Amino acid sequence: MATLERMSQNPNLNRPKDASECPWCRGLGWEILEGKGARQCRHIQVERQSAETARLLQAIPPKYHGYRLEELQPMPQTFTNGLPNPNWHPKQKDLIARMNHNPYLSYYLLGTWGKGKTTYAMCLYRHALEEGRPALAITLAELLKQMRAFDSKCVVDLESFRRNKEQQFLLIDEFGDAGSRVTDFASASLRELINVCEESNTQLVLTANKNEIELERYWSQADPERGPAIMRKLKQKKGAFIVEMF
Ligand SMILES: [Zn+2]
Repeated sequence: MATLERMSQNPNLNRPKDASECPWCRGLGWEILEGKGARQCRHIQVERQSAETARLLQAIPPKYHGYRLEELQPMPQTFTNGLPNPNWHPKQKDLIARMNHNPYLSYYLLGTWGKGKTTYAMCLYRHALEEGRPALAITLAELLKQMRAFDSKCVVDLESFRRNKEQQFLLIDEFGDAGSRVTDFASASLRELINVCEESNTQLVLTANKNEIELERYWSQADPERGPAIMRKLKQKKGAFIVEMF
């Protein structure tokens, strides 16, 4: 993502591959503490954390692996031919501060390509995964496809969503692009999903390449009956924060 600075690499990835090279225990698994006996070697903890990180990163597309919420920053305003970098946006800074201060709010990130919307959204997703909360990231097109197919393996099981008492996280990427025609069934399911998010206090993160008015128009056209209700419900969601980056 051109608009964001690359994050520092995870230091755990630089540890020796072979435990026998461990400087603390030489592969024995125990560290000897002078006059105090032995304790489990700290490399075991490091390995456990690395396995946990690897599991978590499997859920996140590789291009976003280098980004973490607490390390995010907008690209410094650099100048090309005397002009400010067009990708830099002052709202990015406010957004990052707000997300770091409250990573549990619902965020609707609207803006043109290259502003880092999905990167910010993926950082919130990673944060939720790191906390062990039930979390899912999916594009709208894929979500609707699964709903349309009435797939019993649909990733979003409304009943379990409704029942879950932990704070859940749902990222719907590209919310302004259904990919194909929105069927009645899919939009009814989507409306139901948004209702469930509200009831269950699910943290909902959306991204779209449309501003608020364009997004409303899009949904009114996609489904004149339910589209406006979907948009209304989203805007009424408690603690939802809309940020437009254009
Ligand atoms: Zn060791």
